[in-house]
Amino acid sequence: MSDAPALIDPFQRAITYLRVSVTDRCDFRCVYCMSENMTFLPKRELLTLEELDRLCSAFVTQGVRKLRITGGEPLVRRGIMGFFQAMSRHLESGALDELTLTTNGSQLRKYAADLAAAGVRRINVSLDTLQTAKFAEITRWGRLGQVLDGIDAAQEAGLRVKINMVALKGCNDDELFDMVEFCAARDMDLTMIEVMPMGDIGNEDRLDQYWSLKDVATELATRYTLIDLAETTGGPARYRRIAETGQKIGFITPMTHNFCESCNRVRLTCTGQLFQCLGQEGEYDLRRAVRDNPGDDNVVITEIHRAIAMKPKGHDFDYTRTSVSGKMSRHMSHTGG
Ligand code: SAM
Ligand code: SF4
Repeated sequence: MSDAPALIDPFQRAITYLRVSVTDRCDFRCVYCMSENMTFLPKRELLTLEELDRLCSAFVTQGVRKLRITGGEPLVRRGIMGFFQAMSRHLESGALDELTLTTNGSQLRKYAADLAAAGVRRINVSLDTLQTAKFAEITRWGRLGQVLDGIDAAQEAGLRVKINMVALKGCNDDELFDMVEFCAARDMDLTMIEVMPMGDIGNEDRLDQYWSLKDVATELATRYTLIDLAETTGGPARYRRIAETGQKIGFITPMTHNFCESCNRVRLTCTGQLFQCLGQEGEYDLRRAVRDNPGDDNVVITEIHRAIAMKPKGHDFDYTRTSVSGKMSRHMSHTGG
């Protein structure tokens, strides 16, 4: 078999990174992500863990080398550790370079050691504030202490932790330096994420929440020396190093188009829809191929290729100060962040 990547889209981009949402449910209700009263999908709509295994494994046979498990909150899905253990066979065979996850951290005390045992080496934990009351306000249902303890557990288990912080104007803009220092003290990188217009979130207004990462960088530069890093991961993140702390700071600005030409990823929802682009409504149903063809992965692989052949060139987000255009009707918890 040749080593050349098998999944090449119409713009000659090799698809080597699959992000998989394993549930739309969550034990938090972050204000920028969900409304307080969410209606979740009926169970029959969800891919079973076995179906998830078949689909992910089919992608791996087609050259996907990195798998990120997300949600909703991936660690609240019943039986999810079995799925991680099952995916570890692809790490062992050398087919997969990395198995990782993005989590709110609430279940890490329970699962960190099992994740490490399954071959997970690095995880992303979302943490927007270090203040107890503010944390409760942002997540509505979460408790800061539990997440901090989860981060401890992850580090004790030998997992490398990166913190994801959504930049929220008027909310956590006073904590930028506290977060940098908290992460530096624990040898964690920090990635800032610009808030995106996804899904109905009830009464919250994202234009009110929008804090430009340009402004974040300007503020950081008042205290630190920022060194641009050439490194990219084929996604919307750009990195700088803080000379004084040695930390890497990521900036995820999904509204900009400047990463689309190197995009190497697609997203699979918990219902088996493949989103070829974060910023486009287009999707491709892979669940039917899996359900209608038990035991026949060739059909699944053919369908994956069809879906990749429809990957669009770039996305449509556009923020202006007065309106949000290119707004996506789906929630981030559906596609996975
Ligand atoms: N529950 C997990 C967590 O919070 O890390 C994984 C899923 S969550 C949807 C993935 C990431 O998306 C989190 O870092 C979260 O902060 C981010 N996110 C959710 N809604 C967002 C939005 N509207 N704009 C920007 N980031 C968002
Ligand atoms: Fe849950 Fe993550 Fe969305 Fe917060 S951002 S509500 S933790 S899925």
